[in-house]
Amino acid sequence: MGNFCQKYCTCLEPCIPCLFSGKEGEREEDVGQVFANPAVVRIDSQAGEKDKVNKTKGKPLPALPGQHLMNTCKFVALFNYEARTEDDLSFQAGDKLEVLDASHEGWWYAKLLLPEGSVCPGRKLQGYIPANYIAAVQSIEAEPWFFGPIKRADAERQLLYPGNQAGAFLIRESESLKGEYSLSVFDGQSVKHYRIRRLDGEGFFLSRMKTFKTLNEFVDYYSKNSDGLCVKLGKPCPKVQIPTTFDLSYKTVDQWEIDRKSLKFLKKLGSGQFGEVWEGLWNNTTPVAIKTLKPGSMDPKDFLREAQIMKNLRHPNLIQLYAVCTLEDPIYIVTELMKYGSLIEYLQNDAGSHISLPHQIDMAAQVASGMAYLESQNYIHRDLAARNVLVGEHSVYKVADFGLARVFKVENENIYEARPETKLPVKWTAPEAIRYNKFSVKSDVWSFGILLFEIITYGKMPYAGKHAGTPGDPNAGQGIQTPSA
Ligand code: AMP
Repeated sequence: MGNFCQKYCTCLEPCIPCLFSGKEGEREEDVGQVFANPAVVRIDSQAGEKDKVNKTKGKPLPALPGQHLMNTCKFVALFNYEARTEDDLSFQAGDKLEVLDASHEGWWYAKLLLPEGSVCPGRKLQGYIPANYIAAVQSIEAEPWFFGPIKRADAERQLLYPGNQAGAFLIRESESLKGEYSLSVFDGQSVKHYRIRRLDGEGFFLSRMKTFKTLNEFVDYYSKNSDGLCVKLGKPCPKVQIPTTFDLSYKTVDQWEIDRKSLKFLKKLGSGQFGEVWEGLWNNTTPVAIKTLKPGSMDPKDFLREAQIMKNLRHPNLIQLYAVCTLEDPIYIVTELMKYGSLIEYLQNDAGSHISLPHQIDMAAQVASGMAYLESQNYIHRDLAARNVLVGEHSVYKVADFGLARVFKVENENIYEARPETKLPVKWTAPEAIRYNKFSVKSDVWSFGILLFEIITYGKMPYAGKHAGTPGDPNAGQGIQTPSA
């Protein structure tokens, strides 16, 4: 979808910059030139009150360190982590750690390094930790102002959190130019972005008049002098978005069929086409969403296919699958929990009282980002709609329910043919998909267009007054019907 939008929907560029990230370099090319995204302004009213607890947020797993790095490097914790199993190690942001075994993907075995002279009787000092929660001491990743490969729109969202003062800043890896960095600064009103240029040899600069050997020196200098920046650098933007772990624990990386007794059902969140969704707790420690499959409502193999697909997809704007219970009925699928539920209800409940245009553009941009990733993985969602987007803390939106998504079946033909018995959400489905059962990335873009309508109208039914369901169909309200073709 990213490619499609870049080619055919250039008018969306100011609204959905993440889809046009390849052009970012052009925008930030000029030294010291400042760019504010006019679509993003500070929004104090809503996010802050709702966002009391840190939000999980996806971040690619860091590469495993080479053996030499593991042997020589100490690590520092970037976030707090509460042990989920007895094999895990709890730690606090700022704690120092030594990695003893990095052979598990995403989960390392580490030893806590206590400050000299301190003793903590009874405290567990070794165990598994999520690898993306730590960074090598003295590496750029360990700096509080370094946010890694986050997108420009994400930088703006984080810098605009209530509580940030003028001067709040972060440095991120450029989306468009590998090895380059960008500086994003909150000036009290909006966020400005600067391309940090590289010297031919070693070093960094905004203006050739003033060059720096390291980014630390760069930050140090601009913290004391604005020297062409919109404002002097103040406090680094707080890292409130905790990365998602891609598994429940190191044991479920490959073995993601889990014992159903390890799940506690706490509260029913809703019911859908295939069953119910519950808020639950895994291992009495970890909040999760549990989706149950109505026995006989669909082929369990289809359900498992959904699970298989979701497990292999990792993106900050896609719901992360953690585990499944498939050995007996009802089948459970365990995913990350999203605090504010579905986007459709979120929009309808707000009805314009807090959510304003910049929010809505941000929602669309985040969904587009998740969908562009799906396209890059050759998946078609087939059921993109506001009811299938979930809302988390810190205004994070994630695409869910890949139940109808499929890898392209026909080689060299980017089209998936639906089975005749499949029900279609007609009002969200592209004409060629309704008529000829032809699904492609283009039909996902069609659904994205309908989703934009839902976002902008605060969850109104598309084509209001037009009936799209078969008589007696409980899904008629969503315009779902069996296609005639
Ligand atoms: P579904 O069956 O996926 O349509 O989900 C039914 C309802 O359950 C949704 O409308 C949401 O309100 C809620 N829900 C589904 N998945 C989650 C989740 N991962 N976290 C929180 N709420 C969810």
